[in-house]
Amino acid sequence: MIPFLDLNEVNAPYLQAIEDASFRVIRSGWYILGNELKSFENAFATYCDVAHCVGVANGLDAITLILMAYEFPEESEVIVPANTYIASVLPVAYLGFKPIFVEPDPLTMLLDPKRIAENITSKTRAIIAVDLYGRSCEMEPIMALARQHGLKVITDAAQAHGAVYKNKRTGSIADATAFSFYPTKNLGALGDAGAVTTADEALAERIRYLRNYGSLVRYRNDYQGVNSRLDEIQAAILNVKLPFLDVENDRRRAIAARYISEIHVKDLVLPPADRIQDDAWHLFVIRHPDRSALIAYLDANGIQTNVHYPLPIHKQQAFQEFRDLHLPITESIHNEVVSLPLNAVLTDEEVTYIIQTVNQFDYQQ
Ligand SMILES: *Cc1c(COP(=O)(O)O)cnc(C)c1O
Repeated sequence: MIPFLDLNEVNAPYLQAIEDASFRVIRSGWYILGNELKSFENAFATYCDVAHCVGVANGLDAITLILMAYEFPEESEVIVPANTYIASVLPVAYLGFKPIFVEPDPLTMLLDPKRIAENITSKTRAIIAVDLYGRSCEMEPIMALARQHGLKVITDAAQAHGAVYKNKRTGSIADATAFSFYPTKNLGALGDAGAVTTADEALAERIRYLRNYGSLVRYRNDYQGVNSRLDEIQAAILNVKLPFLDVENDRRRAIAARYISEIHVKDLVLPPADRIQDDAWHLFVIRHPDRSALIAYLDANGIQTNVHYPLPIHKQQAFQEFRDLHLPITESIHNEVVSLPLNAVLTDEEVTYIIQTVNQFDYQQ
């Protein structure tokens, strides 16, 4: 069986360095908000080519803390993509703001800039652009629209470490960008971790307070903050892995390029072939009208797949109040998508086998 993702294999090349770094922290006696985090924040800010990086506990908190730091008024509306992982939208809802779901571009499956303007009202304060599957959103029109209407743009780049848009890394484009270092992400810790990047010094400073009970000096609390810190062991592990992110992303790009040029199956839709080298290829998401047959066929032939995602947010029990929304593009995406294995440890032989097997799907129907 070719697994969808085997974290043991993903981390195997770094295991000795990870163990050394973890033991160094364990023996140091300093476990929270220390030098490992400082050096990771500096290195990741440099990597993204942005002035500030603030480590937090996870990707969900990164989005939450950005929204908290902006202090939008009650009843604010936030534009969100209808096609995304639920974590992009949960922070909007639990801070009491109203998510306004916008249909994606059917080709990229990302937030469609052409559909944003019609959803802006006098209550809109921000747009959350999600670089879903690893591809950067169309940031130029999104930023232009936001500037025109005085809105903040927040990128959810939990799936897009190292993605590029017009020669800029994601993390340096939006007003603030949220990252997750959940173990399966392109840059993954061995536990939970996240970060915010921004060029806005005041925003970065505010999030440094908020992640630590609203405090920068012990027992002096300037804001009502939360506990959302990136711990020293995870920071040390991220310091080991960050220097290899580009090499791993390049391997992902090479595999995606092969999938795109070599897979040819009737009625099977591949991701767009433009900007292959800009995409971080967190996931390789294809579409087929008979998804369950394709999944069963690949499984029978030893290829594990995944579905990102099976049920849209507005159809989830957790967001019952939106269940009557009709979002046909999003709903058809959720009915048709399948993710093929794509990760830096797939061998050329495995990639060839996956391509050949998918290409034979045609004949089995
Ligand atoms: C993983 C993910 C998150 C949440 O990150 P966590 O670290 O698990 O909280 C948010 N948005 C997207 C698009 C994700 O893929």
